[in-house]
Amino acid sequence: MSVLLSIHDVTPAWRSHVDELWALCRARHATPALLVVPQWHGEWPLESHPDYVAWVRARAADGAELFLHGERHDEVGSPRGLRDQWHALGRTDREGEFLTLDHDAARVRIARGLARFHALGLHAIGFVPPAWLCRDGTRTACQSLDLPLLEDAGTVHLLAEGRALASPVLRWSGRTTLRARGSAVQAAWRWRTQRNAPCFRIALHPMDLEHPVTRQSVIDELDRWLAHRPAAPYASLLTPTRAGAPAQRVPTGS
Ligand SMILES: [Zn+2]
Repeated sequence: MSVLLSIHDVTPAWRSHVDELWALCRARHATPALLVVPQWHGEWPLESHPDYVAWVRARAADGAELFLHGERHDEVGSPRGLRDQWHALGRTDREGEFLTLDHDAARVRIARGLARFHALGLHAIGFVPPAWLCRDGTRTACQSLDLPLLEDAGTVHLLAEGRALASPVLRWSGRTTLRARGSAVQAAWRWRTQRNAPCFRIALHPMDLEHPVTRQSVIDELDRWLAHRPAAPYASLLTPTRAGAPAQRVPTGS
């Protein structure tokens, strides 16, 4: 039994925190997947930070799987409707870039991101919408771009195989002290009730290191989870014929 481990929000904007999360994982002999944002909040374009891209490429050479994680990550320019408000209730502070996007709009952004990855020598094994929020159109867009993997808050979708695995995820929120303490309590509850769940994920965010309560909880949970079940690559979920195959063709536009 293993665990799927990832670092979200990999961008030069969060360079030092991502470095620290990576080191925490490697110190426990685990290699996390990296969820890379091409242009964090409309700034920090990867192309302007070649040293950071070289760092990501080196981590991929170490065995880290790469996911495209939105284009800009926030919701600027994508106003929510009432249904979107309900869908996102309590789950993000305006970081659900794909929350409001239909198939066509999602496909444009994902294709653009994959083209940027390709130009930078990065290879995406899948897509994770920011805050795990998206509509069905994001799933069909990923399928149309031959991405094998998509995950949301409760499920890992094996797109090429038409399968979906229920997958609880341990994550934290340190936006307020109340949320940080709630996160630590929830983390302890997941250990008690889900430590033998068949497909379990741990998702680390740079913000987790900003609050002392979530920082300590991350360290404690990594210690006990990774001692209990080692980290495995997402590709291990795919059937052998897909696991070593190219993750996607180079997109040519919308
Ligand atoms: Zn994110």
